[in-house]
Amino acid sequence: MTQPQRVVTDTMAGLKLPDFDTWSDRVATVLGQNPGPFTGPGTNTYLVGTSKRPLLLDTGIGLEVYDPLLEQGLSETKGANELQEIVLTHVHQDHIGGVPNVQKRFGELSVSKHRWPEKDRAYDFPLTYIEDGATIETDGATLHAIHTPGHAKDHLCYYLEEEKALFTGDLVLGAGTTVVPEEGGGLIDYMASLRKLLDLDLSVIYPAHGPAIREPYKKLNAYIAHRELREQQVLDALGAGLTRIPDMVKRIYVDVPEFLHAAAGNSVQSHLIKLEKEGVVKNEGEEWALA
Ligand SMILES: [Zn+2]
Repeated sequence: MTQPQRVVTDTMAGLKLPDFDTWSDRVATVLGQNPGPFTGPGTNTYLVGTSKRPLLLDTGIGLEVYDPLLEQGLSETKGANELQEIVLTHVHQDHIGGVPNVQKRFGELSVSKHRWPEKDRAYDFPLTYIEDGATIETDGATLHAIHTPGHAKDHLCYYLEEEKALFTGDLVLGAGTTVVPEEGGGLIDYMASLRKLLDLDLSVIYPAHGPAIREPYKKLNAYIAHRELREQQVLDALGAGLTRIPDMVKRIYVDVPEFLHAAAGNSVQSHLIKLEKEGVVKNEGEEWALA
């Protein structure tokens, strides 16, 4: 049996965070109330700014239980009862899903994100499209949008200039690793996005799931090393003659419970697709082999 090998050893399992909390002079969180194996304690939605009209970064999945907590969190962390606007990291439901309820409570706030027309058309509220490099300002906080595809085509990270902090959405999580989905994602983009973040001057990462990351470069390098190790493990499995994804999962993910093997299979597949694009492996039906 292959020994389990992993770079990222922490996990979201059992992690708990308070319903709302102050993380810095400018940044407070309200938890989306959607815990799960992939969301950890749930989506962090962020109140950003120093005024009584902060902006809301991500909105959770749209659960009714979130709305009174947002109101309470806004009041207790910012002494506020208004929002300036809504800004989104990406179109996945646990980030955009809360928009209609938030607008019902706080008025027709503008909603900004990067474009992904095929997904955006599922929502009937107006969206303001922002590009890589766009700046969003609120009292006490300046956010710079950074296009970071890989987890989702429209994914933006936001750099908070005043704190050298980075909101990473689902690109980098507070614990464990993230999903690189086949639809709208891809490991080539994902790795490039991680490497792009290494060039920033960072003191902290505020992820969309899990706690703040106080050693940003250690985390980014661990994320890169994790994927590089997985890629090597996939190559080793192919070299050992394994051709099918479920067999590779059994070999590589010996330390992962069976209910996560489907997700692990998606991860192996995303490595194989990357390697295929790079001309290293070939694929026929469900069979994979070294090229
Ligand atoms: Zn996502």
